[in-house]
Amino acid sequence: MLSRFLRLGISRKAVKKSPAAQENSTKERMFFYPMNEIYLCKYGELALKGLNKGQFESVLLANIRKKIAPYGSFRVFSSQSTIYVEPLGEIVNQSQLFSALLTVFGISTVCRAAKTEKNMESIVATVKEYIPPFLQGKHSFRASAKRADKKFPLTSPEIAAITGAAVLEATGGRISVSMDNPDATVTVEIREEFAFVHADAVKAAGGMPVGTAGRAMLLLSGGIDSPVAGYMMAKRGAKIEAVHFESFPYTSERAKEKVLELARIMSNYCGPIRVNCVSVTKIQERLKDTVEESYFTLLLRRSMMRIAAALAKTRFCDALITGESLGQVASQTMQAITVTDPASDIPVFRPCIGLDKEEIIEIARKTDTFETSVLPYEDCCTVFAPRHPKTRPTMENVLIEEEKARLSLLEKEALDSLQIYFLPENE
Ligand code: ATP
Ligand code: MG
Repeated sequence: MLSRFLRLGISRKAVKKSPAAQENSTKERMFFYPMNEIYLCKYGELALKGLNKGQFESVLLANIRKKIAPYGSFRVFSSQSTIYVEPLGEIVNQSQLFSALLTVFGISTVCRAAKTEKNMESIVATVKEYIPPFLQGKHSFRASAKRADKKFPLTSPEIAAITGAAVLEATGGRISVSMDNPDATVTVEIREEFAFVHADAVKAAGGMPVGTAGRAMLLLSGGIDSPVAGYMMAKRGAKIEAVHFESFPYTSERAKEKVLELARIMSNYCGPIRVNCVSVTKIQERLKDTVEESYFTLLLRRSMMRIAAALAKTRFCDALITGESLGQVASQTMQAITVTDPASDIPVFRPCIGLDKEEIIEIARKTDTFETSVLPYEDCCTVFAPRHPKTRPTMENVLIEEEKARLSLLEKEALDSLQIYFLPENE
């Protein structure tokens, strides 16, 4: 390994420095990391942005820095639609760091790469030393080259041919070349200052950086759909805050804990989440005592929309998000949505509206909320649920029933006594 450092032009003195001494020089620290390994994060849709691309990039860089802070010290910068994450010393947990990068919205792929000098001798040596472990268990590969620096003396096909030969030599012919359908692709990227060598990139979260598309208030139940709805909107760049309606003592403390756990899991992708818990017990009791049973759920949902919209405004959120899916239950028929929607005076986004339950479950599994969502705790919507809910309500009749309940004071009281939680707790 020492010979590699010397080939890269780093003095023996620098390599031998004590860990404390390394702290003093960024340049030396950079080289102390084995194989000069860094992480290359490619943009997704962000690459298509025009003049305002810089704003999106700076939010993405800030989100990445926050996300990886627990794993060590890094230099994070962007160049040519790629973000470079360069360790400046020991990494606390390399696989957790890699997984963390995969959850940052705005990044489409992540790969580990070895940084090397921009000459074929260094590149070949790096390929031979760094690449073989990535090809374990693979039967075929293809070499490719990308030249951002057009002044580099060799063409891309020439670099790829030399790289392919180096891989064959390093693997002792154990793996063959396949141009059409390889198990792996080995890539050499010739960039402005350095060259980078890597095997296949891993698909990341995609989407747009959280915080580039406004703030929205998610109506978060303990079910499967609403965490997925929050994830989908965060993926488009919305910063998520949540409101959860509880109905203590009809709903339990454990039901609330489940919702907080869902928010904690969601924060892996969405960033820290503030959860506002609002009790609707008195509203439900009033509805039960005053309105025709078949309207109960619709009126509760309208009340929830009003409270959420009022709360959203105090929290600088410009929209609501729900996990509703067309026709899933009686309160989500087109007519039911038509009468609940106007209760909010800000837009209501329903990203799951056209998804089948199976498709929603697939996302819930991918984002790790599914196992928690299916824990069997009650939700306020199931308390006093009518036997025959209205599936084709009219606005006129809904308003007549709503008038009987006189909810406005109770809604204000509910908002005044909200409980606030921050997830994850240690943020
Ligand atoms: P989910 O839709 O989250 O799986 P669910 O299917 O049990 O839960 P629905 O009755 O379908 O819930 O409610 C539709 C939407 O209303 C939810 O996706 C959620 O956005 C909102 N909602 C329902 N119950 C609550 C609650 N207790 N607190 C906050 N929002 C809620
Ligand atoms: Mg639902």
